[in-house]
Amino acid sequence: MKKLLLIASLAILGSTSSLQAQNSCGTDHDFAEKAKKYPELIAARKKFDAGFKEFLKTYKPSSGLNKKGSIPKYIIPVVVHVLHDNGSENISDAQIKSEIDFLNLSFRNLVSDSINRRQDTFNGIFYSFKALAADAEIEFKLAKKDPKGNCTNGIVRVQTPLANKANDELKPISVWDTKRYFNIWVVRSINKGNSVGVAGYAQFPMGFSGGASTDGIMVIHQEFGNIGTSQAGQTPNVTTSTHEVGHWLGLYHPFQTQMDTCEIDGDEILDTPPTIFSATSNEPLRNRCNNKKFNSCTLEVPDLPDMQENYMDYFIGNCASNMFTKQQVARMHYVLETYRNQLWTPENLAATGVFETTPSNCKPIAAFNTSARITCEGNSLSFNDNSYNNTITSYNWLFPGATPSSSTAKRPTVKYDVAGNYDVTLIVNGPGGSDTLTKPNYITIQANNANPKGFYTVDWWYQNNWQDKGWSFEYESPNRKFERTTAASYNQNASMLLPKDPFNQLMTVGTTASLISPSFDFSGISNGYFAFNYAFAQGRLPSSIGGGGTNEEIKVFVSTDCGKTWTTRLTVGSSSISTIGNTATSILASSVNFIPADQAKWKDVMISGASIPSNSNVKFKIDFRYQGGNNFFLDNVRLGSSTGNGEILNDELKLSVQPNPFATSTKLRYFLSNRKQVEIRIIDITGKEIVTLYSGEQSAGTQEIEIGKSQYELSSGIYFISLTIEGQKFSKKIVVE
Ligand SMILES: [Zn+2]
Repeated sequence: MKKLLLIASLAILGSTSSLQAQNSCGTDHDFAEKAKKYPELIAARKKFDAGFKEFLKTYKPSSGLNKKGSIPKYIIPVVVHVLHDNGSENISDAQIKSEIDFLNLSFRNLVSDSINRRQDTFNGIFYSFKALAADAEIEFKLAKKDPKGNCTNGIVRVQTPLANKANDELKPISVWDTKRYFNIWVVRSINKGNSVGVAGYAQFPMGFSGGASTDGIMVIHQEFGNIGTSQAGQTPNVTTSTHEVGHWLGLYHPFQTQMDTCEIDGDEILDTPPTIFSATSNEPLRNRCNNKKFNSCTLEVPDLPDMQENYMDYFIGNCASNMFTKQQVARMHYVLETYRNQLWTPENLAATGVFETTPSNCKPIAAFNTSARITCEGNSLSFNDNSYNNTITSYNWLFPGATPSSSTAKRPTVKYDVAGNYDVTLIVNGPGGSDTLTKPNYITIQANNANPKGFYTVDWWYQNNWQDKGWSFEYESPNRKFERTTAASYNQNASMLLPKDPFNQLMTVGTTASLISPSFDFSGISNGYFAFNYAFAQGRLPSSIGGGGTNEEIKVFVSTDCGKTWTTRLTVGSSSISTIGNTATSILASSVNFIPADQAKWKDVMISGASIPSNSNVKFKIDFRYQGGNNFFLDNVRLGSSTGNGEILNDELKLSVQPNPFATSTKLRYFLSNRKQVEIRIIDITGKEIVTLYSGEQSAGTQEIEIGKSQYELSSGIYFISLTIEGQKFSKKIVVE
């Protein structure tokens, strides 16, 4: 492939003007990501492009085009998945239908502004874009039967906290057989490498091993339809989805060309003039209505101005984005005859029910969620109804264990007083019938003061038992998780690692991973602390694939209402987050696997004193927001009360002498959570020093010192081992036989 996809997407994503940013397409970026994960895609794309050239040899465009009401060659069953978090992105059925209507106008060459297609003279030569515009003879219809044959309105609504910054990893939440349905996902925002600015993206038709569950297009709600939350009201065009469907049917951008070379067949289409879409151009990027003769490439014969009329370019406004060309239509037909040939068969159209009448008899589908599934005794929780598939006329909620224990409200609030796990049931009724959904053990109510007063070194990674202690990890991006590792540790033999994701294969850039503690009793304590160590090398990636941001961040939060609300206590920002200094270029995540070699490669983070609420119910949370850096290690999480930051607790020190009594030798063991100044002496019962066993700095971890009876000329009797650690004294009685 001659084309350099990344450059095109860089130019697009690199633009910062807000209007422009909201209108960019993530399809090239998506292909680049997928091709890294599935290298077979490169060959598949070549084969796909070559197949089109073959197809053209025998292709005959159909006649009788552009007739309103004429029967199209291809009818495509559609399912729209609205992935929402109860916000404005949960758009109305009417807004969805307005988009389907527009797709049918645009693909059938019936848009009202087609008058703007130019017929003109350029460099002395007459040309007609009007004559090139073609009816794709494709019609989109919302499915009326779901994959199981149940009645549907073709719209699925799924509540998810991931509707923001969505991408491929979210699609499997709700997907219908992609061979039989054209899947459209509508979300709040899209995270395609860059955290802002992607309006939509499509998956090209060529197959690859991971492609079946992600095939379709994803579009932000503001670019979907022309009513409701859509921004498209600004212009008569609603072209983002048309553009993405074009990609889904195999079309590339007209500027699909190596920058500044103006390859004529960069988009594999001969009747679209080559175009450079360059963010550095002096020409305004959008709305070239004032300069309709704009011509970024002069190599083609005959030389024509840029076809801003084309849906696959980026211009919007009355003068732009209103047509597909004849050869683009041929290419879409090629896709429908080969790669996507199951969608429009008579059998599939019957199975998906697209010709059935209005599905007013569809049963509603019950769905709900709550703001928090875990809380403490005495707290209230509110519930959201997310039911869909038809009008809901009444609600019946059942809340065993709560007050009240039932409700007929759409969004009820109930209170739980006793610790335990509780089911929640919602029954919805509508004209098509009723539906019942029970979520077993959906709500967890924790006892207040789950942990008694007393203090902890909670460095349990090495024991692999943090779950039993009530600690948990949570993720905005579920495919990339902390894992226990023995590759590095601050002070024991294991730590928790959030692995790097150098090519954003898991697509988690900009999302957070969190560690959440159980509740601790800090009432009456004014000198509490919560601390941990981490190691992280920023090792940034180019911004084109999601790195390079300045958003990497560690945040520490406290909560006194069982995690219902969190207050930020500390932020470690991008300039100081690295634990190895500013050596980003030498530790690129794509080539180096960062592992901290010693304690100097770790940093210590602590909140203390007034930052710890004097409350009987304190929870802590550590957030790490990832932006394309290297491995992130977390270790030595600890909390307690201290008279100073450095107080060592007996519980933490784990001081032991075994065997004791002893006849020939014994072993002294203790544990240091950090590098510390240590002095160890043996003292007799009169307080006289016999010997200094050690004096100096010791690194963190378990320390072991052998004490021989003859080595130190100890006669039988009672002695004390005296440890002084950073000025704090500990002692242990020993008996020599
Ligand atoms: Zn595009």
